[in-house]
Amino acid sequence: MSEEKVVRKKIAAAADVGKFMADYYYELDAASKKGDPKIAWCTSVGPAEILRAMGFLIYFPETHSAMLGATRMATDLIPEANALGYSPDICSYLTADIGAFVKGVTPLKKVFNIDSIPKPDVLVYNTNQCRDVQDWFEWYGKKFDAPVIGVHTHRNVGNVTAAHVDSIAKQMEALIAPLEKVSGKKFEMDKMKEAVRLSRACSDIWKKILDTAAAAPSPLTFFDGTTLMGPAVVGRGTQKALDVFEKLLAELEERIANGEGAVQDERHRIYWDGMPVWGRLSAHSKMFAALNTNVMASTYCNSWIFSALDPEDPFRSMAKAYTELFIVRDDAAKEKYIKEMLSFFKVDGVIYHDAKTCPNNTNCRYGMSQRLSEETGIPSLTIHGDLNDLRMLSDEQTKTNVEAFIEQLDESR
Ligand code: SF4
Repeated sequence: MSEEKVVRKKIAAAADVGKFMADYYYELDAASKKGDPKIAWCTSVGPAEILRAMGFLIYFPETHSAMLGATRMATDLIPEANALGYSPDICSYLTADIGAFVKGVTPLKKVFNIDSIPKPDVLVYNTNQCRDVQDWFEWYGKKFDAPVIGVHTHRNVGNVTAAHVDSIAKQMEALIAPLEKVSGKKFEMDKMKEAVRLSRACSDIWKKILDTAAAAPSPLTFFDGTTLMGPAVVGRGTQKALDVFEKLLAELEERIANGEGAVQDERHRIYWDGMPVWGRLSAHSKMFAALNTNVMASTYCNSWIFSALDPEDPFRSMAKAYTELFIVRDDAAKEKYIKEMLSFFKVDGVIYHDAKTCPNNTNCRYGMSQRLSEETGIPSLTIHGDLNDLRMLSDEQTKTNVEAFIEQLDESR
C-alpha cells in the first residue's frame, strides 16, 4: 500500500493532552517569573510525589529535551555541550538540553511562546535510570546556584528485596530536611499520602490506556503513546492528569467497541523496545502504517506505570515502585517482563532500538534479542539510531531493514 492511501486514525483526546501540557508550562513560567510557588526540577522517574506533597511545581528536563528532539532542534545543539567537555557518546538528552541552554534557545518558544525554561529552586534526581541525570542536574545546579540532591539507586537488580527497598526509602526520607529548607514549609504526611494516592491513580489509568493496545486491531500505536504520555510523566500526583486520561481512555474503549484500529487493516503487531527516535516519530509512524503494521506496545511508554505505590506506606512503596522499574533490572528480569508483554499484546515481531547515546535504555547489546527470539519463536529486528542525535541514524537503512523484516513476517504467516 502506498503511503498516500494509508489512514492513521487521529485521537481526538490528543488535543486535551496538548492543552494539559500547555497549561503545565504556562504555570511553571508564571511561577518562575514570580518566584512563587517554588520550582523543583526532577528526573522523569524521580521522587515526584515528595516534591508534590511539599508544594513545589515540578519541571522535568527530560520532557524538555524530548521536545528538542521532536522539533529536530537537538542535533545542532549537541556540539555546544561537547565543547564544554560532555562527550557526543553520552546521553543526547543531556547534551541537547545543555546545548540549548548555552545557546539561549528552547522549543517552548516555538510551541507555547515561552522564552526560557523555569529556574530551579532545587534539583532532585534518582539514578535509577542512569548516572547521566546526576551530571546533568549538577551542571544546572552550578548555573543557577541551586542545591542538587538525589537518590542513588542500585542498578542491574534481579529480585527487588526488602534490603533494596529499605535503603531507597531511607534516602527518600532524607530528602525531606533539605527540601523543607528550600520550601520554607514543614513536611505533612497527609499531603504526602494524597500525592501518592493521586500518582497511583494516574499510573493505574495510564496502564489501562496502554493495555487497550492488546485489542485486535489495536486502537493505539506506540507513536501515539509517546505523544500522549505527558500527563503520566509531568502530571503524576495531580487530579488534572487523571481528568485528561479518563477522556482518552473512554475514546480508546469506544474504538475497541467499534472494532476501529489505529492503523488501517492491521496485519502485523510489533513491540518496540528502547527509546523512540523523537525526530522521526511521524516518519516512523507513517512507514509502519504504510506496511499495515502497528507498533502498538513498548517498554518505554510502560516506564511510567508504578503499580507498587501505596498511600498507606508512602516512602517504602515509592522505593519499591521506583526500583522495580524495567530500566533498573538485570537481563533475566527484563526478559521475563518482555515475554509477558509479547504474550499479552499478541505480538508477532519485536523491534529493538539500539540508541547510540543511551546504553541504559538499549537492551539488545548482550544477546537478549536472540535469546528471546529463540525462546518465543517471535522474530526481531535491531535498528540503529538515537533518541535525539539524528546523525546516528540512516533513514534509508532503517526503511530497507524494516521493509525486509515485515516481508519476513508476511512469509512466515
Ligand atoms: S536513561 Fe538514557 S536517555 Fe534517559 S537520561 Fe539516562 S542516558 Fe539519557
